[in-house]
Order: sequence, then C-alpha cells, then structure tokens
Amino acid sequence: MNYLSGGVNSPIPIPESYPNNIITGEGPYVIDSNGQRYIDMWMGYGALLFGHADKDIVQTITKHVKNGWFFSYQTKIEKDFSAVLHDLIPCAERVRFATTGSDAVAYAIRAARAYTSRDLVLSVIGGYHGVHEAMIASEGLAYKNGPDLVHFNDTRESLEAIRTKKYACMLLEPIMANSGCTPPLPDYLQALRNVCDETETVLIFDEVVTGFRTNLGGAQKKYGVTPDLSTFSKAIACGFPLSVVCGKASIMEQFIPTGNVFFAGTFNAHPLSLAVGTKVIEKLRNGKIHSQITKLGNRLRSFISSAISKCSLDACVQGTDSMLTIAFGCKDFIHGIRNEKFNQKAYDIFVKKMAERSILFPPLPTETVFLSPVHEAVIEKIEKAFDEVLSEMKNL
Ligand code: PMP
Repeated sequence: MNYLSGGVNSPIPIPESYPNNIITGEGPYVIDSNGQRYIDMWMGYGALLFGHADKDIVQTITKHVKNGWFFSYQTKIEKDFSAVLHDLIPCAERVRFATTGSDAVAYAIRAARAYTSRDLVLSVIGGYHGVHEAMIASEGLAYKNGPDLVHFNDTRESLEAIRTKKYACMLLEPIMANSGCTPPLPDYLQALRNVCDETETVLIFDEVVTGFRTNLGGAQKKYGVTPDLSTFSKAIACGFPLSVVCGKASIMEQFIPTGNVFFAGTFNAHPLSLAVGTKVIEKLRNGKIHSQITKLGNRLRSFISSAISKCSLDACVQGTDSMLTIAFGCKDFIHGIRNEKFNQKAYDIFVKKMAERSILFPPLPTETVFLSPVHEAVIEKIEKAFDEVLSEMKNL
C-alpha cells in the first residue's frame, strides 16, 4: 500500500512509462529495484552537478559524519564557507545560510520589504521561486498576495512597471530555468539593474538553479550584472539541503540581530551540507568541470537542432551552458515556454519513446535538462536515441 497522499510527493506528474521504485544512483544512471538502469537527464532538478554518488562527495560525507553532524552553536565551517562565498559571488558582501530554495527566497523578499518599506513584489510570468505565498508566480497559481508579473525579457514592460516605484523588489532568475531554459536577451539584466538603481527597488537574482552550475560566481558573473540580493541552492551542495541568501551589507543587515527582520530555521547552515559545499567549490576551482559540461551542452543542443531540421519537425531546442529544453509545437521562445502554445502530447510521446530506450527526461518541457560530466560516457547513446525517436515522430 502506498500511503503517500495522492501516491506522490511532488506536483510534477510522473509518466506511466517511468520507474516508481528507484533505489540507487550511480554516475549518469538511476537504478530501480529490478536492477534496470536508466540514464538520468534531470539530475536531481539540477542539484547533482557531478552525477549520482560522486566518490568525492561520498568520501566527504563519510568523513564528516563521524565527527557529529549537528550543533546548536556557531560552527567554524559556517564562518569559513561564508568567506569563500563572499570571495566568489559578486553581490555577496554578506551571507546567510538556510535550508531550501524557498526559504532563501522568502528571506530575500522579507529583507527587501523591510529595506524599502514597500510591500509589493514584481516577478516574471512562468517563473518559479518556491512554495511560499509571496512567491507563487506561475500562471494558474497566482494567489491574492502573490507578486505582480511582467514578461521575462520584455525590457519595456519591466521598466514601465518598476518605474511606478511601487515595488520592494524585482525577483527573477537571471537565466529562466522553470519555463523552459530561457537565457536573458543582451542588455535585459543591465536594464533592470539601471532602473532598480533609479527607483531604489531591490534587484533579486534567484540563482537557486543557475548558481554554481554556470560558473563559480553564478549567472551574475557570467552576464556582468550584480544584483542587490541573490539566492543559491541545488548545485551548491549537490543534493544535500542547503541554501544561501547573500547580497549588499546594507540590506542583509536588516536581519536579526543587526536589524529586526526575522530569520530562523533549525536546519539552517547544516554542517554536513556545508562540508559538501566546501568540497563542491574545491572540485570546481580549476574550471575544468564547467568547461566540460558547457561543451557537452553545446554538443547536445547542436545535435538535437540538426536532428529536428533533418526530420522537419515542429520542435525546438534552446538553453545555455549545461542546461537545455526540448519542446514541440513551438519555435525558440524568449519570454519562457509558459507563454507559448507548446504541444504537451508530442512531448509525452517523446518522453515515452526515450524511456523505452532507458533514458529519462523531465516529464514537462517547462523543466530543464541538466548535464553533468558523467553524461560524457553516454552521450553517443543519447544522440542515437534522439536520432531514432525524432525520426519516428516525423511519421506520427
Ligand atoms: N527558486 C528556483 C529558481 C527554483 O527552481 C526552486 C525549486 N525548483 C526554488 C526557488 C525553490 O527551491 P526549493 O524547492 O528547494 O524550496
């Protein structure tokens, strides 16, 4: 008997063709209780930057757990790791550690509200910033006290809204990863930076997905635009619970005890997650992994794009770095895929045919595919499957 409410723990529907009894992960694979191996193209929603059961991470956890793993006192590692992040992330004058991406975004919004003495939040259509009421920003999910919304990459509309000076903050992912992978148009982020300065609006980059995946300083470093506040999670601790809110000292010092903004959480700054985070940064320092996964991303995007043209399919692939989205029934999208009439049925067929070849994609094209160095060993198998599946789809 499955006593999970609704049988699941996530709002994302799991296709019938997918395994529902995963027990282990290894490199590029998830493995079910029958021993069947599947190539994982979702990689823990992007958290598993090095793939499953990375040996260095296993070693780190094994070593640290022996020394005790949870304390109600200040730890050395939280101070040391905050200094590491301060040096790496352009906006990180001050740092706080939390547990989930949702928490980090909630704290950032709270600090922005206190700092500006304004209540309203502006965000983008189709964005996702966590489970708390103030940040539900998806169509169909707009609660009464949720944010106002503009189109991602629509500079004119965004500037017009911010110029009303109604908003405590503008909250967005610098590369949108929750509405298909949608990079920013040139100058969009800088235009937001300028108008937020002009109107004293707090600019928040939610780097829960992009942080540590694009490079060590996040998408803010890649695009050369420094937000006032920023949030990180997922890849920073490779699947262990850790999030970060960081930014300008004057805003961050709104938090208790220097200010009055409430900030708490039993598992915040969990020492095991911080130990993993420290190892993650060490592994990324020489830049080899980022250049390897970006190369894999470029290779796969261009392979899929040629396969789509060869089969004359009404489909597209887009993304950047080690992230991509494939969608049917639409051309390249600049405002996020939730603004397009994409063909979910065709995507369902694609997902099913890929699963028959033991390759698991995110079940919705609004999600992003995440590549890790471990995909290098199976890239030819993935490309062959694309060739076969897309040419079968041509004949449907
Ligand atoms: N922000 C972004 C950009 C996210 O993608 C997510 C989760 N997918 C969150 C915030 C919320 O993070 P969590 O699920 O850890 O609360």
